[in-house]
Amino acid sequence: MDLHISGRWAVVCAASKGLGKGCARALASEGVNLVINARSADALEATAQELKALNDQISVVAVAGDIGREKVRAEVLDACPQVDILVNNNGGPPPGDFRDWTREDWIKAVDANMLTPIELIKATVDAMAKRGFGRVVNITSGAVKAPIEVLGLSNGARSGLTGFVAGLARQPQLASSNVTINNLLPGPFDTERLSHALNAEATVSGSTLEKVTQARLQGIPARRFGTADEFGAFCAFLCSQHAGFMTGQNILLDGGGYPGTY
Ligand code: NAP
Repeated sequence: MDLHISGRWAVVCAASKGLGKGCARALASEGVNLVINARSADALEATAQELKALNDQISVVAVAGDIGREKVRAEVLDACPQVDILVNNNGGPPPGDFRDWTREDWIKAVDANMLTPIELIKATVDAMAKRGFGRVVNITSGAVKAPIEVLGLSNGARSGLTGFVAGLARQPQLASSNVTINNLLPGPFDTERLSHALNAEATVSGSTLEKVTQARLQGIPARRFGTADEFGAFCAFLCSQHAGFMTGQNILLDGGGYPGTY
């Protein structure tokens, strides 16, 4: 299927590894020019080279820095001739017990996983509406639908973003101008982050990585973790011309792990 987005420009945040990179790869394959971002310049440059090798017809610009910083966001936006597609992504907040979290911990989480994507949305959607095409995809988490106790900072901050997006996406001035805003909710995907989490769980519980991994897989009817390429393919479809009638939605990709009907 031709997604009809070849030649468009996308900003993909936190894209040197994992799910963000999966989205960048899928968009590159569709002929979308990219501005990608992550903090470590070396890993980001390696990903930029990989994307160019995937499709030598596209431009790929790498802007290194913490996307939570206003200056970095400005550099990312300046590097993009026009933002047709915005994929919001960032590192997730650390796990822990809410009794230990300070106001500063909460502000950090809300800043990274709620206010940073909102700032980027604010900077881009009105121009998208004027041009009559825009796609925003926010990578959030399955924890928005089924909270994970130790990830309280993530449950809270991402739910804040989700509530805001639910209202914004339905503004007629955006929706009637072919600008859609949707959230993609990953369940367990095979990325560095998941691998760190499983290793940490094995260490804390005194178990083996193999046992901890098998236990986690038992909670997923698909009996496997998702891949970043699967995630990216779904994101590219949401960014396509074909997905113009879908906005304000939360789409869970979790191999059937969420037990509810709705
Ligand atoms: P990952 O494999 O660890 O990759 C994270 C990417 O984000 C890297 O490119 C990293 O590069 C970049 N990054 C981190 N902090 C950044 C910052 N402040 N500014 C710019 N770039 C930054 O993680 P992932 O598994 O793809 O997860 C992506 C998001 O999905 C996270 O928010 C995570 O919590 C959420 N999520 C993931 C899963 C899963 O199973 N994988 C499940 C639910 C939710 P640098 O470190 O160089 O900056």
